[in-house]
Amino acid sequence: NSFKDFALNEDILKALDSLGYKSPTSVQAGVIPPALEGKDIAVKSRTGSGKTAAFAIPLCELVDWEENKPQALILTPTRELAAQVKEDITNIGRFKRIKATAVYGKSPFDRQKSELKQKSHMVVGTPGRVLDHIQKGTLQLDQLKYFVIDEADEMLNMGFIEQVEAIIQELPENRTTMLFSATLPKDVEALCHRYMKNPLDIEI
Ligand code: AMP
Repeated sequence: NSFKDFALNEDILKALDSLGYKSPTSVQAGVIPPALEGKDIAVKSRTGSGKTAAFAIPLCELVDWEENKPQALILTPTRELAAQVKEDITNIGRFKRIKATAVYGKSPFDRQKSELKQKSHMVVGTPGRVLDHIQKGTLQLDQLKYFVIDEADEMLNMGFIEQVEAIIQELPENRTTMLFSATLPKDVEALCHRYMKNPLDIEI
């Protein structure tokens, strides 16, 4: 099994090669094909499984480079994870010149605001700061097509459910949603049922 088996453009394949990713991990093999078809997907998998690239690869492939407003929003429970996801997207999207912006708390709002004014294909952030940018009008989501909740169980453990739901209310109905979680407790299952359309369940 090879990344060449997926419907990926040369600029993405070249980036994966330069990162030394020779073949897809099992979560990537499960997620990439349905994600490229725009399916909603709920994935149970741990950190270390290659879950970040499992959503970053199809998102880098799918976003339209010409569009200036964000097309993908990725929520993470922590600032560190947001920064890591942004870095992974930047690496995978290098040859397509994908621009990702990270927005999280305890970091200057105005710098994020001016970054969001530039072309940003994807925005990665923690719920509180993402909501803050939405409410202040500095993050516009009318072109959003892809939404990812990363480490959903951690997100809910940290008490972010209200912010996550408030953010979802601001997203276009017509979108693809992917959820990643190491465990699937009842509150995470409820989130899937409420906000995803016939999600494909993948357990690795
Ligand atoms: P993650 O589960 O997303 O935190 O990824 C764990 C580590 O695996 C990261 O350091 C990735 O760079 C690496 N990785 C992800 N996908 C692959 C792959 N297909 N081949 C080799 N390494 C990978």
